[in-house]
Amino acid sequence: MTQEDEQQPPQPPSHRGEGAPRRSFHRRRRPHRPPTQGTTGETAAAPETQAAVKAAAPAAAPQPLRQHAQPRSLDLSVVIPLFNEEQSIEDLVRQLRDVLSTIRMSYEVIFVDDGSSDGSFNVLRRAHQQNPRIKVIRFRRNYGKSAALSVGFKSARGAIVITMDADLQDDPREIPNLIRRIREGYDLVSGWKKKRRDPITRTIPSKFFNFVTSLMSGLKLHDFNCGLKAYRSAVVKEVRVYGELHRYIPALAHFSGFRVTEVPVEHRPRKFGKSKFGAGRFIRGFLDLLTVLFTTRYFRRPLHFFGAVGSLFALAGLVINVWLSILKLLGETSISNRPLFLVGILLIVVGVQFVSIGLLGEMITKAQHSEEEYSIRETIM
Ligand code: UDP
Ligand code: MG
Repeated sequence: MTQEDEQQPPQPPSHRGEGAPRRSFHRRRRPHRPPTQGTTGETAAAPETQAAVKAAAPAAAPQPLRQHAQPRSLDLSVVIPLFNEEQSIEDLVRQLRDVLSTIRMSYEVIFVDDGSSDGSFNVLRRAHQQNPRIKVIRFRRNYGKSAALSVGFKSARGAIVITMDADLQDDPREIPNLIRRIREGYDLVSGWKKKRRDPITRTIPSKFFNFVTSLMSGLKLHDFNCGLKAYRSAVVKEVRVYGELHRYIPALAHFSGFRVTEVPVEHRPRKFGKSKFGAGRFIRGFLDLLTVLFTTRYFRRPLHFFGAVGSLFALAGLVINVWLSILKLLGETSISNRPLFLVGILLIVVGVQFVSIGLLGEMITKAQHSEEEYSIRETIM
C-alpha cells in the first residue's frame, strides 16, 4: 500500500504496526484540480498558481516535453509555515524524519518560507536536496502565518494534513496520536498545549481568548491557536484562511459542519529566536473573532445580530425613560437634568441605529444574489 512513494525506504519488520490491518488513506482525487507538472524544481508552486501561469502564457508557447498526469495523492502532508527560523529547521527536519519513518504512510513535508530574511531558505534548500520529500515554497515577502498555511494547504496532496510550527515548540512525536484521532472519524484534531511553555504574558490572555472564542463560536476547545493540528484534506481544501484567521480554523471548520476535537500535546519552550507575534495579536485577535462570526454565523442574516443588540438597547432606554416619565407625572420637579434621562435617550438612539444597520445589511445580502455556499459531505446520485 505504500508503493506509491518510491522514495519511501523499506520498513524494517519492527515498524510493522500493531498487527491491525492498515487502512487506506487514499482519497479520491479532487475533480477540480488542474493537471500539473511534477514539482521537481526548487519551489513547488501551488497547482493553481501553475495553472494560472500557464493560462497567462501566449498561445504559441512551447508545451513542456514531459507532462505528468495529475500529481499522485499521498497519505500525509506536513505543512510548516516559517518566518526566520533558520536555527530550528535542521533539528526539526531530523525529528520529523525520525517520526515519519516509523509510521507506514507515504508523505511529503511542505515548508512555506514566509519571506524569511535570514538563512532559512538555504537550510531548506539543503534539506530538500537530501530528502526530495521535503518541498519548499518561498514567499517573496512576509505575508503572515495564515497566508503561508493557505498556500501550503493548496499544494498539499495528503489525505491527512498536519500543520505544525517550525520553532521546535511543537513535538513531531505527537503526529501519530493526531492521526489516530483522525482515523477515529474526526475531520480536524486540534492540539491542546495543556502545559504551555510560554511566558505568563502570553498564557493568561490566551486563556481569555480561548474562553471567549469557545463561547461565541459554540465550539468548546481549550486551545484554538495551537500550531499542531491534523486535518482531513477536505477541511483544508474548503476552509479559507487569510489575514490572521489561522487562530480560528477550528471555528471555521466547525461552522462548515466538520467534526472537530482536541488532544493534549507536548509543548516546548522556544529555543531559538523569539515569537513573531507581539501585543498587537490581542486586538487583532478580537477583531478577527468578529470577522469570523460575521462571515459565518451571521453572514446571511445580519439583522439577527444587529437587530438583537439594537432591540435590547432600545428596550432598556425605553424602560428607563418610561420610568422617569412616571416620576415626572407623579410630581417630580425635573427629570431633564438627571444623567439617567440622557442614558435612556442614548440607548434608544443607538438601539434604533443598530436595527437600521441590520436592515441595511439584509438589503445588501439580498442585493448580492450570490449563491449560498453550503458544505456538502456526500452526494448519491
Ligand atoms: N510564522 C510565519 N509567518 C509570520 C509569523 C510566524 O510563518 O509572519 C511562523 C513562525 O515561524 C512559526 C509559527 O508561525 O513557525 C508560529 O509563530 P511563533 O512561534 O512566533 O508564534 P507563537 O508560538 O509565539 O504563538
Ligand atoms: Mg512558537
